[in-house]
Amino acid sequence: MSMSLTMPSQYVTYPGKLEPIRAGVLEALGRDSQEGRKIQSCRYKSRCHSTLCPLCLRQRGYEMKDRIMQAASQVAGARLRFGTFVARDVSLDSLRETGRELMQAVGRVFKTLKVDGYAGRLEASFEEWRDEYHVHVHALIDSPSGGRGFIPRDAWRDEWLGSLPAHLHPVEGGAQVTPVRDLEATCNYLTKSPFSEHVRDHEKRVVEALLACKGMQRTIIRGSMAERGGVTHSVQSGKAA
Ligand SMILES: [Zn+2]
Repeated sequence: MSMSLTMPSQYVTYPGKLEPIRAGVLEALGRDSQEGRKIQSCRYKSRCHSTLCPLCLRQRGYEMKDRIMQAASQVAGARLRFGTFVARDVSLDSLRETGRELMQAVGRVFKTLKVDGYAGRLEASFEEWRDEYHVHVHALIDSPSGGRGFIPRDAWRDEWLGSLPAHLHPVEGGAQVTPVRDLEATCNYLTKSPFSEHVRDHEKRVVEALLACKGMQRTIIRGSMAERGGVTHSVQSGKAA
């Protein structure tokens, strides 16, 4: 098959659906700022790779999704769990430090409970009515579905609260870990762009949060979730959860 000499228009422009979001980002950053100019120059065929660009963030999410899907599809479905680990809501000033503490706490929980692999991502959603950020970690987890090594629901919660510094304990809840019913939907959710939900004035808050956490590692992939194909488990789990 030969390549067409005329490039389809979607490749030489910015996707129309993302334009209002990009406009919101540019408004928050300033159109004439260095980052703003970079994002204005972004096209499908020559991407800007800004960590604040709605298109580049979306594309990076797709790549991450493919990578996690590939590893997770090698794991027996009954072993997969989706977990949400929550902290107390915090102000923008504390976002970076809180995020760091959450990622460390999650790492400790997975190590203590001896999971075989995980892909975890830090997220912060803005709570308009309280002017605070709801910081949490979502994770796709590979752990035994029964028998030795099985992790009961209470163990997740207890271990999470034990690992999280007391000043970050949430008012209610803490850790919720459930079986994965739809792997693709779970991976989409896990890797979605922070700009995926377009709400009025939302971009400014997202930009602020991303800038506050700039340079920080927000996704961690370990163990069987980091392997590309061919994951095998030496101990076959018995009953499915
Ligand atoms: Zn871009």
